[in-house]
Amino acid sequence: MVEIISSNKKTIYYVKEDSCTCLDFVHRKQRQGLKCKHIIKCFGENINKTLNEIDLLSKLFKPNGLDFDTAYIKIGEYKLKQLIKFGVICKSPIKGEYRFILLE
Ligand SMILES: [Zn+2]
Repeated sequence: MVEIISSNKKTIYYVKEDSCTCLDFVHRKQRQGLKCKHIIKCFGENINKTLNEIDLLSKLFKPNGLDFDTAYIKIGEYKLKQLIKFGVICKSPIKGEYRFILLE
C-alpha cells in the first residue's frame, strides 16, 4: 500500500494495485472497473492479470529495454522503484540513451 497526499495537501489517499480511497475511485472508477490516476501513477495502467509478472516484464523490457516515459506509464512510479530496489531492473545506456533494462 502506498500513501499519496492530495493536490490540496489536505487528504492522504491509500493506494493499492486494485483500490484507492480517493472519491473519484470510490464513487466512479471502481464501479466502471477502471483505475484512478493514483493507481496508474503508482502501479501503471496495464498490469495484465492473466500473465504472470515475469512474463509481463520480459515482454516489456526485452529486447532493448524500456524508455523512461513508457516505463512510468506502463508500470508506474512505485512499482518501478520497487523493481530497481530489488535488483530486477536497472538504468543502462543503450545506443546513447538511458533506458531501463531487465537484469538477469
Ligand atoms: Zn485515487
